[in-house]
Amino acid sequence: MVEVLVATGNRHKLREFRQMFEGTRYTLVTLADIPGAPEVIEDGVTFRANADKKARQLALFSGRIAIADDSGIEIDALEGRPGVWSARYAGVDGDGADAANNARMLQELAGVPDERRTARYRCSLAVVRPDGVARYADGACEGRIGHAPRGDNGFGYDPYFLVAGAFGGRTMAELQPAEKNAISHRGEALKGLLPLLDDILST
Ligand code: IMP
Repeated sequence: MVEVLVATGNRHKLREFRQMFEGTRYTLVTLADIPGAPEVIEDGVTFRANADKKARQLALFSGRIAIADDSGIEIDALEGRPGVWSARYAGVDGDGADAANNARMLQELAGVPDERRTARYRCSLAVVRPDGVARYADGACEGRIGHAPRGDNGFGYDPYFLVAGAFGGRTMAELQPAEKNAISHRGEALKGLLPLLDDILST
């Protein structure tokens, strides 16, 4: 098994990564295993820039190969907002952030008809070696913002995100974890990243 540091403090994302790495030759090391790991300031204007910055700083600090994710939701009727600012859209940190973000989203979308409530989740993943060599993969997942929350799974905007395609009609929070991973932005990015991870380890 090969150990890979997953540089996220978000326990929901970590659970998704753990499930997605099952059956691969990689085992996850988390920030909890790296005492004194620096807090990385996410001040990039793209998902990829933030993912690169997080993975790079943690790879350098820990001396291990590190993966970081930066993700968010783009809502067409809001000209792509909140985008890279999805985590702190409502200006709230910690436990109340998801509820506050969803409330702000609904407020900004008030009066917007269903056909214009299209949105997508995006995810960029970066894998960086301690010597600075890096690879990237991106994923997206199309959907639409509903009016009322449904489902208890997932996190963040999931109870309002009506998935397009195979699971159409259900919110992301109504999908089982394996179903979410099969179609999600993070799942897609990770599928792209696994071969790059193999490559970066062998060169
Ligand atoms: P960051 O990548 O840690 O900067 O935060 C991404 C933010 O985007 C999260 O805090 C959520 O609000 C939102 N987000 C990203 N991925 C998902 C997802 O799979 N479901 C729901 N919300 C998500």
